Amino acid sequence: MDATNQTHVEINLNAIKANAKAIKEHTGSKLIAVVKADAYGHGVIPVTEALQNIADMFAVATVAEGIELRQAGIQIPILILFSPLPDLAVDIIDYDLTAAVDNWILAEQLNRVILDRNHQSQPANKLKAKIHINVNTGMNRCGVRYTEAKKFIKELKSLSLLEIEGVFTHFATADEDDHSFAHLQLNRFHSVIKDISDIHLLHIANSAAAHTIHESHLDAVRTGLSLYGIYPTKKKSIQLNPALTWKAKIGWIDYIEPGETVSYGLTYKAQNRIRIASIQVGYGDGYPRALSGKGEVLIGGIRRPILGRICMDMMVCKLESADKVTVGDEVVLIGKQGNEEISADEIADHANTISYEILTNIGKRVKRIYK
Ligand SMILES: *Cc1c(COP(=O)(O)O)cnc(C)c1O
Repeated sequence: MDATNQTHVEINLNAIKANAKAIKEHTGSKLIAVVKADAYGHGVIPVTEALQNIADMFAVATVAEGIELRQAGIQIPILILFSPLPDLAVDIIDYDLTAAVDNWILAEQLNRVILDRNHQSQPANKLKAKIHINVNTGMNRCGVRYTEAKKFIKELKSLSLLEIEGVFTHFATADEDDHSFAHLQLNRFHSVIKDISDIHLLHIANSAAAHTIHESHLDAVRTGLSLYGIYPTKKKSIQLNPALTWKAKIGWIDYIEPGETVSYGLTYKAQNRIRIASIQVGYGDGYPRALSGKGEVLIGGIRRPILGRICMDMMVCKLESADKVTVGDEVVLIGKQGNEEISADEIADHANTISYEILTNIGKRVKRIYK
C-alpha cells in the first residue's frame, strides 16, 4: 500500500469531460470552465488538462491561480473573475491573463503596463490587453454598478491598449425556485449592453442558470459545480455524473459493552454490546465535524452510522456483529459502493452548508488519484 493513500479521492476525468460536453450541448454557448479553488477540490492541473480541448476559456478567482495554470502549460484564455488589485497588472500582462475589470485604477494600470511592454519589444509591438467588464446588477459584492456601467465602458475607450472582449454579471439567486430577482438582474444587464455591438463575449450563467434560465445563456456560460457532476438545483435538465469518490480505510475494529461510550465528550453511549470500527479520516482531512453522530459512511455496500464525535484524524462507526469486515477494508465517504451512494449534497445537508464547501474543504492530506 502507498503510504500517502490512507485516505484519497478518485477523480474520474472522463466524467468531467462528459459533463462539460453535456453543458455545451444543452446551452449551445461557449464554455468558460470555472476551475477556481483547485477546481473545486478536484485538482486544477489534471482537470484543466482534461478540459483544454473542450472549454473555450478557464476562469479562476485570483491572479495566483491564473499563473499556476500558465506555468503548467495551459494555453487557452484564462479569466480572473474578480477585479485584481491594481499592483498585479504586471503579472496579468506577463502571464497573458484576462482580468475582470470593475475600476478605473486597474484599467489605467493595465494600459500602462502594456504600453511599457510594447516599448520594450523589438520591433515595437502593438499588443493589446483583453479585459472583461464585471457589472454589478444586484449581487453587490464586486463589479461596476449597472447604472454606471455604460459610462464606464465608454470612458475605457480612451485607454487605447485595452480591448473589451467581454461583459458579464453574476446571479444571486439562480439556484432558487423563484427566478424573479434573476430576471431583474438580466434586465439590468440588458440595459447596459443594449447599444453595444462590438463586444462578443457576453456571459452571465453559472451552473444553476445553465440548467434553468435559458435566456441567460448568451455567448458563453460560466459553469463550475456542474462540471464536477453536481446539481446546484433540484431541476436536472442536463445529465451529469459526479466525478469524485472519497475513500478511506478501516484502522481498528473492536466491541464495547453496554453503557460504554465513544470518542471525545462521551456523547454516544452504547445500549447493548456493539461492534465498532474506526476509519482513518477526520476533520483534519476536511470531513465536516458537524456530521458527528449524524452522518453515514459505506462499508461493504451498506450504510453505517458515525458514532460520537468526529476527531481530527479518525471517526468511529457502528458495525453489525455478523459483518465480514477487517482492518484495511475500504470505506466510501462520498460516492458509490455496491448499490448505495452518498452524495456531496447529503454531507452538505447534514453540515448545514452547500456541496461547494464540502468539496473545496477536502484537505491537502487527501491524495488525488486520477482515472
Ligand atoms: C464561482 C463562480 C461561478 C461558477 O459558479 P457555479 O455555481 O459553480 O457554476 C461563476 N461566476 C462567478 C463570478 C463565480 O464566482
